[in-house]
Amino acid sequence: MWILVLNSGSSSLKFAVVNPGSGEVRLSGLAERLGSEAASMRMDRGGERQTHALKGGSYAQALDLVLAELGRLGLWGQLRAVGHRVVHGGERFSAPALITPEVLEAIRTCVPLAPLHNPANIAGIKAAIRAFPDLPQVAVFDTAFHQTMPEVAYRYAVPEAWYRQHGVRRYGFHGTSHAFVAAEAAQLLARPLTELKLVTAHLGNGCSVCAVLGGRSVDSSMGLTPLEGLVMGTRSGDVDPGLHDYISRQAGLSLTEVTAALNRESGLLALSGLTNDMRELEEAAARGHAQAQLAIDIFVNRLARSIAAMAVSLGGLDGVVFTGGIGENSASVRAATLTRLRVLGFAVDQEANGRAVRGHPGIITAPDSPPALVINTNEEWMIAREAQGLLNSD
Ligand code: AMP
Repeated sequence: MWILVLNSGSSSLKFAVVNPGSGEVRLSGLAERLGSEAASMRMDRGGERQTHALKGGSYAQALDLVLAELGRLGLWGQLRAVGHRVVHGGERFSAPALITPEVLEAIRTCVPLAPLHNPANIAGIKAAIRAFPDLPQVAVFDTAFHQTMPEVAYRYAVPEAWYRQHGVRRYGFHGTSHAFVAAEAAQLLARPLTELKLVTAHLGNGCSVCAVLGGRSVDSSMGLTPLEGLVMGTRSGDVDPGLHDYISRQAGLSLTEVTAALNRESGLLALSGLTNDMRELEEAAARGHAQAQLAIDIFVNRLARSIAAMAVSLGGLDGVVFTGGIGENSASVRAATLTRLRVLGFAVDQEANGRAVRGHPGIITAPDSPPALVINTNEEWMIAREAQGLLNSD
């Protein structure tokens, strides 16, 4: 049996047909610029790629194409469920949930907490219910893994009514990825996950670190929204909360404009004045672009500080895991980060680190160092496993 995994963005739909047992992917693809004349969909069938024009296409039309392809591949009838990535589940969801009208309503109540993401997730769910009315639909939440954080980690020092009435607390994100790579790391280390104190660093366009104690999240660098914490592609990460009022007066910006700038015009992009893409920044820095180098240095410094802080939340550290596009591919970011973590005893094995690029996970530290690992994340497989696990338990 197969699970169709959907990740709906504001104008995109990523999908994969995944075997929850083995992780095998039979069909995958990405529809982009949905709703515009330039909409298109790329499909990948075991290495064979096709692009379809979707002129003005919606989620529904993108799903129609997926449906037709499933029929051609003889997979129609072998689908067990549709698994949806949902960004914000608030305090309500600490595990995947079978989507009922009531669950959909609960996801809708989390929209103010994730105004960019949850509406898109809801639109994807509705389109999938129409396209696959007979299949169970399962929501897998980015926030769910972090619901095990203790109150000392999730509360902000703000008026209590903000928390009780408006849900102002830290939630954490990228939970599916952190949970997946922590379990994989335990296997690679040949130790039970339940005995390990790990810091997992998901470094992609969005970046967060997580303290994973015995397989459970006990702290995250991300907070109320995915803006807190590390420097990211276009997101600032931590800033002084006094900045909003100051810059809105000085530059004549509304609060909404300040927040938008912190989300979309900050991070690596702002520091480098060049790009939000780490690979391009590394190339520019190698050519002597000083601002690109500064952007990388600030990214690494914030990351190393955050990993060290997570070691405090864990009360020790058995290993650091790097994942996501940057974590899996950038040997230089990993080496620079671990060099800053010398204070915790880390020493890079340069050769092993250079070998660990996408598709080649492994341990990248010297024998007398605490281990640092590179693990390829696989959120689609994790969502498929979570969906299957929920249906089996029912
Ligand atoms: P993701 O969101 O996980 O796809 O990660 C995207 C980020 O990974 C971008 O900043 C890319 O530049 C970065 N990335 C991908 N490949 C490499 C590479 N070979 N070296 C450095 N950064 C990379």
